[in-house]
Amino acid sequence: MWYHGWILAIAVLAWMQAVPAKAYTVKSGFTEGCHERITAEAFMVLLDDPRWPEVVVPGGNTWRNLARPLNQWLFDQALIDEALPEPQLFVLFSLVVGARSPDTDGRSVSDLSSQRSINLDPRPEAQYVHAIRAAQDDEPEGSQNTVTGTRASIRQSFSGAAAASLEPAEEQISAAPFTLDFYNLFHVEVWQPGFLLGEAAHTLQDSFSHSIRDEIDLGQILHVLNYVDAVYTHFNESRDGIAHSRHLDRCDAAELRELRDAVDLATEDLLDAFLRTQAGDESALDDFVDEWVTFQEGCTFENDFCGNKWVVEARKDPTSPILPNWMICSAGVGPARATWIWAMAASILVVLAARRLSAR
Ligand SMILES: [Zn+2]
Repeated sequence: MWYHGWILAIAVLAWMQAVPAKAYTVKSGFTEGCHERITAEAFMVLLDDPRWPEVVVPGGNTWRNLARPLNQWLFDQALIDEALPEPQLFVLFSLVVGARSPDTDGRSVSDLSSQRSINLDPRPEAQYVHAIRAAQDDEPEGSQNTVTGTRASIRQSFSGAAAASLEPAEEQISAAPFTLDFYNLFHVEVWQPGFLLGEAAHTLQDSFSHSIRDEIDLGQILHVLNYVDAVYTHFNESRDGIAHSRHLDRCDAAELRELRDAVDLATEDLLDAFLRTQAGDESALDDFVDEWVTFQEGCTFENDFCGNKWVVEARKDPTSPILPNWMICSAGVGPARATWIWAMAASILVVLAARRLSAR
């Protein structure tokens, strides 16, 4: 069918183009972004579990066409030497759709205006899904509050996944919103437990790229970064926390290898905790969050974060205010008023540009 042919063609084209998000990158289309890769590699470690083949696969070609590049990617990475059986491919596909959904919210990742509005959603939960501070999370309690919120976010997705896996097999299939670039929103079938587990994996993975972890015990978080305030000129590190770092989001950077190994292991543990929960282990989730997402007190702005080596990495390539300082300084009026004037001017320009675009 032309419809499915198009989806596949666009998916393959989109494969070539990465779009940075506020987190480990997500890949536009499918898929070789950080979240997708880390999640897929963790799944491959647990591929032989006897419960995956029991997952019921839906009919229809949409998910199959979208999942095909995943199989190819696994070949290319030498992670498989024969194509995954359909149930395992469907589980992996659902995990990956879930793992990218907090950054894309089902929308195209090329749609930068929706990307920004998601990233600046003022609800604290919208930030905790990305394991990063909400606007209210000022020091001295801010990091601890955020870790509490992040744990709650992981627990919620994980518990949803565990509950969904108890439903009758056919009812475990649901429709997740999804778009490919230059293509309208459509829904694609996913295995709901896998999709929700993928969301939990996203939050977990962001908790490595959005925080300062202990040098010895990488399960402990000393400090959480900030995005919501870092895009404004009123940002103040001693109160708001270290600014979000695009460098820490680079899951393949050589100097971040230790963090990458830890996030790989943590993601494997997350999937393992899900399987253990299914097998009746009621403490698997508690054990998991205690091992990987725990706040450690005592390292603050005032004591230079105990000289932690990850702070050096976190200060590279920080997210900074949308309006550059030179615009504010050159206005020749007080900084607050100048910010306001330039914000107005920028808004008008954006509105005009949007009108021109929509008039096309
Ligand atoms: Zn994220």
